This record gives sequence, structure tokens and C-alpha cells, in this order.
Amino acid sequence: MTHTDILIIGGGAAGLFALRGLKEKKVCIIEGNSKLGLKLLATGGGKCNFTNLYLAPDNFVCSNPHFMKSFLAKFGTYDFLDIIEAHNIPYEEVRSLEAVMPQLDFLYMTRVQKERFFNEEDYLRLKDSYILTPEKMAAGKPTMRVLHPLPRVNEISVKVDDDPRAAYFRQALNGKYMRMALILKLLKEAEEGKQMPPLGDVMVNELVCDNPRCISSVEQELDHIFVLTDREQQTYRCFYCEAQSK
Ligand SMILES: Cc1cc2nc3c(=O)[nH]c(=O)nc-3n(C[C@H](O)[C@H](O)[C@H](O)COP(=O)(O)OP(=O)(O)OC[C@H]3O[C@@H](n4cnc5c(N)ncnc54)[C@H](O)[C@@H]3O)c2cc1C
Ligand SMILES: [Zn+2]
Repeated sequence: MTHTDILIIGGGAAGLFALRGLKEKKVCIIEGNSKLGLKLLATGGGKCNFTNLYLAPDNFVCSNPHFMKSFLAKFGTYDFLDIIEAHNIPYEEVRSLEAVMPQLDFLYMTRVQKERFFNEEDYLRLKDSYILTPEKMAAGKPTMRVLHPLPRVNEISVKVDDDPRAAYFRQALNGKYMRMALILKLLKEAEEGKQMPPLGDVMVNELVCDNPRCISSVEQELDHIFVLTDREQQTYRCFYCEAQSK
């Protein structure tokens, strides 16, 4: 590798955007995919949402709340729009579901996420925004499909359920078949011994995983399984999360 000042690992949205401030530097981007920014083509199929009017520090999950405050003070919605406009990238701004309803091929609904609000007041103020009703559906194309990961709270009125364009129950059913297929595949692989390390290299309930997010830390009755990954160094790693034993 020739001399570089900065190395960026991952040429996704964040990595590529970081390039903006590095014009004077020699930068090398290491990207696992065959092309940079490949995921950007998939997100929104080339037509995606890239900002919104209600960008506030409270909307971000970040262990350091001051970081988002200082970040947004330096770079907010309008700074991003300035860049978009400087590059003559066409975009549309909408302020309500009704305004775009007639154009939609798909409407993906999600619940208003209570756990992301920092106070009850904001949640109560916003929780009933964007409820999908038969009146709003009336403006949609006959071929539009409504999706939702389920379970819903109240963001889709039950009166929409009988609309032939409501695809969320089929979506959930197909999701069940997909999970069944994945579970079957994993069970078959386990049966064929593909996944299991040789006996003797496994410790069951002798070590405890100290990763607080590991499934074995969360589910009370799960065995703590550790697998020998380096015979010379006698390194064991958690079977579930691969954290090294200490
Ligand atoms: C279906 C879908 C739709 C979405 N729609 C939108 C939308 O409309 N608007 C929106 O704002 N966001 C949308 N998102 C979210 C958005 O895509 C992500 O927030 C964004 O891509 C995150 O950018 P990133 O640079 O952090 O990560 P990524 O875009 O995931 O980039 C990480 C890059 O690093 C590479 N990489 C990882 N590990 C290595 C390694 N070891 N070596 C080399 N390269 C590596 C990966 O190949 C990838 O290119 C959508 C996401 C999905 C999945
Ligand atoms: Zn673990």
C-alpha cells in the first residue's frame, strides 16, 4: 500500500460521507463488497428518505447524550439539504401521509417506538400521529400494498384489515415459514455435526460468559457453553457470542 494519511474500513454511507472533510488527505477505503456504497442502492431503491424535520438529540440512541447535541448543532437537516442542493440532487419534501398516498406502491408502517422517547409527554403528543385509516387508504392506488412487522399498537386501524391491499398478515405468515425453513436448516446442520466442535473441546457450565448482552446472560436456564478455539493458548470462546473467557 502506498502512503496514506487515513484508512477507512467500510465504504458505506458513513465511510463515504466522512470523505467530505478529507479533500487534502490521501485516503484509502477498504470495502468488502465489490463496489462502494452498494447498500445505498438497496435502501429505498435509489429513492430514500435522507433526513427529516424533527432531528433532535432525543431521537438518537447514544450512550453519550452530549455527543448528539454537539453533532446536531454543527450539522443539522438544513446543512444536509444544502449539500443535496449544491449537487442538484432532486428531492421531494412531504409533511403528511396524505400528501404522498396516491403515489405509493408500498406503505411500510411501524409503531411509534415508546422506548425511544425520553419523556412520556413527547410520546403522548406523537403516538397518534400517522394512524392509517380507511379514509387515508381511499387515496391509495388499487395496487398499493401495506406492510407492517406486527404486532401493531394503534397505528393501523383494524378497519383497514379487510382491505385487500393490507398485506401485513400475509407478511407475518410468510415470515413464519421463512423462520421454520431456517430452523429446519440449522437443525439439519446440527444433526450432520457440521456446527458442533469435537467433544472434549467443549466446556459446559464451567465458565460463565461475562458479555451482559449474550443470550446466556439474558436467558436464565441456558447452559454456558465454551468452545476451545486455540489449543496452544488454551483460549475458550462463548458458543453463543464468541466472547473470550476470562
Ligand atoms: C432495506 C433497507 C432500507 C433502508 N432505507 C433507508 C432509508 O430510506 N433512509 C435511511 O436514511 N436509511 C435507510 N436504511 C438504513 C441505512 O442503510 C443505514 O443506516 C446505513 O447504510 C448505515 O451506514 P453505515 O455506513 O453505518 O453502514 P453500511 O452502509 O452497512 O456500511 C458498512 C460497509 O462496511 C463494509 N464492511 C463491513 N465490514 C467490513 C470489513 N471487515 N472489511 C471491509 N468492509 C467491511 C460493508 O460491506 C459496508 O459496505 C435502510 C436500511 C435497509 C437495510
Ligand atoms: Zn456469550
